[in-house]
Amino acid sequence: MTMLYRRLGRTGLQVSALSFGAWVTFGNQIGDDTARELLETAYASGVNFFDNAEGYADGQAEVVMGRILKNSGWARSSYVVSSKVFFGDTYKGPNGRGLSRKHVVEACHAALARLQVDHLDLYFCHRPDPDTPILETVRAMHDLVVQGKVLYWGTSEWGAAEILEARRLAEKHNLHAPVMEQPQYNLFHRRRVEQEYALLYDTEPGLGTTIWSPLASGLLTGKYNDGVPPESRLTVKGLEWLRNRITAEQKPKLDVVPALVAIAHELDTTLPRLAVAWCLANPRVSTVILGASRPTQLRENLGALDLLPKLTPELLARLDALALPAAT
Ligand code: NDP
Repeated sequence: MTMLYRRLGRTGLQVSALSFGAWVTFGNQIGDDTARELLETAYASGVNFFDNAEGYADGQAEVVMGRILKNSGWARSSYVVSSKVFFGDTYKGPNGRGLSRKHVVEACHAALARLQVDHLDLYFCHRPDPDTPILETVRAMHDLVVQGKVLYWGTSEWGAAEILEARRLAEKHNLHAPVMEQPQYNLFHRRRVEQEYALLYDTEPGLGTTIWSPLASGLLTGKYNDGVPPESRLTVKGLEWLRNRITAEQKPKLDVVPALVAIAHELDTTLPRLAVAWCLANPRVSTVILGASRPTQLRENLGALDLLPKLTPELLARLDALALPAAT
């Protein structure tokens, strides 16, 4: 397995095509030793981007990652680390979340302290905030970039119209514009990346994508087809909403999974590898953020890189025929 590196949109930043994120797991589902083993496994495989957010385990995911990075001895220039602002950390009061200048700046300072770094390589607005003028957020992000606390800023799950508006305002006021987006993208969730954002990739300033939930939270492993196994994500406290969504609302998707498993077996591989490789096959994807609760899963998923050459147009068409009718 040799890691590939891709430019983040039109920026000069090279991110590993497979990266690694902390949602659900760090500071919550797994212990700190497992978290360290996961980061070390990723880094040893050439992963150079680690994704985090103020909202993950109320800030604890950043604390755990920061401690590991600090003790790792890895050169700061050898990895890219992110945070995201919107959902808040432990303080749940009126200015503890959202995209106001106050919260964007305070959340950045808190993330820098928790991650023990002096700049965030990537800083995302984790959702759009209908209660804050977009220009206020764009200015706050611009100021953080100018101060050197953030290198690149972007959005996560913003609509194309909102991204265009942020770009327009940035251009009008000569401010740093958002250059990347973090959308969900997998065999079952693809319209936004493939259609809604289509007009954003090639127009200035371009759009890098750091895509999330390549396995649809585990649905695309096949593990949920016979119920919910113990010690899986859907048993984690606080994720009852996800469990309901996957076991009930996503029934049409679950029904497609056995046929996808069969295709994976034909290729002498596993569905997690095939599903991750499918995301990589889209050149609009700058990096696929992997999640894992144990190192065996991570090692399996990293093997997707070797499968990439087997994703011929014929195979992709077969996967489309199966998965597209159930996709959103
Ligand atoms: P996935 O959809 O790949 O789900 C990962 C989970 O699936 C693992 O934690 C594990 O859960 C299970 N799993 C992974 N590999 C295997 C395997 N080979 N066999 C069996 N089970 C497996 O990704 P995530 O949803 O974790 O998203 C990845 C990252 O993206 C996050 O960590 C975060 O950084 C980012 N993200 C961003 C969001 C945003 O709004 N911007 C939203 C969500 C994620 P378990 O073992 O517990 O079942």
